[in-house]
Order: sequence, then C-alpha cells, then structure tokens
Amino acid sequence: MDKNNPDYVLIDTNFIYFILKNKINLIEALVQCLNTITVPCVSECVLLELEKLGPKFKLALRYLKNKEIIKLKCFHPNNIVYADDCIFNTVSLYRYFIAATCDIKLKKRIKQIPGSRILSIRKNKIFLI
Ligand code: ZN
Repeated sequence: MDKNNPDYVLIDTNFIYFILKNKINLIEALVQCLNTITVPCVSECVLLELEKLGPKFKLALRYLKNKEIIKLKCFHPNNIVYADDCIFNTVSLYRYFIAATCDIKLKKRIKQIPGSRILSIRKNKIFLI
C-alpha cells in the first residue's frame, strides 16, 4: 500500500445507495479493490441531490455526512446542478479522482475521458472498470 499516493474516490448517489443496500463496508471494500489507501469524497451537488431525493435516500445522506467522507466544495460553474454533471466535470478536471457510480449513462460519459477510472458494483462487490 502506498500511503503517500492515495486514491480519491468520488461517490455518486446511486453508488452509496447500493453500498448500503448490499451492506458492503465501503472503506474495507475500497481498500480491497484498489489495494491502496483510499479517500472517499462527496461533492456538494451529490449531497444536495440526495437531500432532494427524499426518505429513500436518507440513510445514504446520513452515511455520507459522517466524518470519514471528505466533503468537496464544487469548483465547476454554477449552471451545473445535476450530480452526474458534477461528477463528470470534477473527474475531467482532476484526473486523480475515481468516479464511483452505478449509473450506466454516466459510466459511458466518463469512459471517454482518457485515463479515467470508474468504480462500480456487481454481485455485492466493488470493481474497477
Ligand atoms: Zn458539484
């Protein structure tokens, strides 16, 4: 493990939803999958979207607000409001982020960014695309 070179994981709404639904230990699963120190992060837009999504996502919101998750201030233009666009933008600007999402459309978009990395969930496990 390389403690000086952690992976920053940018979490999407649906990703954290499925993590909790499948009772996956996020931190452990990330380390296992990436084999390095990982820093899970969440952006303002994702937190805002979770708040708007209502009761079904209450647990996800509470989880992301815990202190182990880094809260990112968004630096993209104000006209970006959707969590998808926020994540796409952040990953394009800052290549050290790994997008963690289960959204098929978003995965397709991010794959087009050279050198991008994506984490998703399949059969109760996190895997790297
Ligand atoms: Zn944002």
